[in-house]
Amino acid sequence: MFSFGVAGTIWTDAVPIVAAQLGGAPDDYVRLELALRALVHGTAMLLIAKTVHPEDVGEMREACRKSIETLLREARLSLSPSVLVESPIMADIGDTFKPGARVPQSGIYDVFHDPNHSQRHQVTCVYGETFPPCNRCGHQVHFKLAMKAIHLTNHDYFK
Ligand SMILES: [Zn+2]
Repeated sequence: MFSFGVAGTIWTDAVPIVAAQLGGAPDDYVRLELALRALVHGTAMLLIAKTVHPEDVGEMREACRKSIETLLREARLSLSPSVLVESPIMADIGDTFKPGARVPQSGIYDVFHDPNHSQRHQVTCVYGETFPPCNRCGHQVHFKLAMKAIHLTNHDYFK
């Protein structure tokens, strides 16, 4: 059963841990902490008050756990690209990367240059390689994941 002790531990310890993992100061995570607190407290109260049918307790706890994962993922996405590139988590559509970062996910990326020399265009990048600087605008260029695609040689059917 989801106890108050567990809930208390989650909301007092999660924010400094998340801040350490994602970068930034704990103060940057006040909204995240409030959301986690509301989520965990709400779940704990429903379970403690026994308003949830015993058969649904597992589902309730799982829903809470999934919601926490979603909140943490969204928090990661809202951070700056320089923080994102250090995350060990696979990339999502819209994640943005700077030259020098490792490609976290093979696929098609939108490329944004200094607009004085080039319009946006698309390239294919392969997992594990490094996003390069542009030979015109250098490190001003950045890469935004537009579509994921497993590289042929990494696909289970072609290994
Ligand atoms: Zn460029």
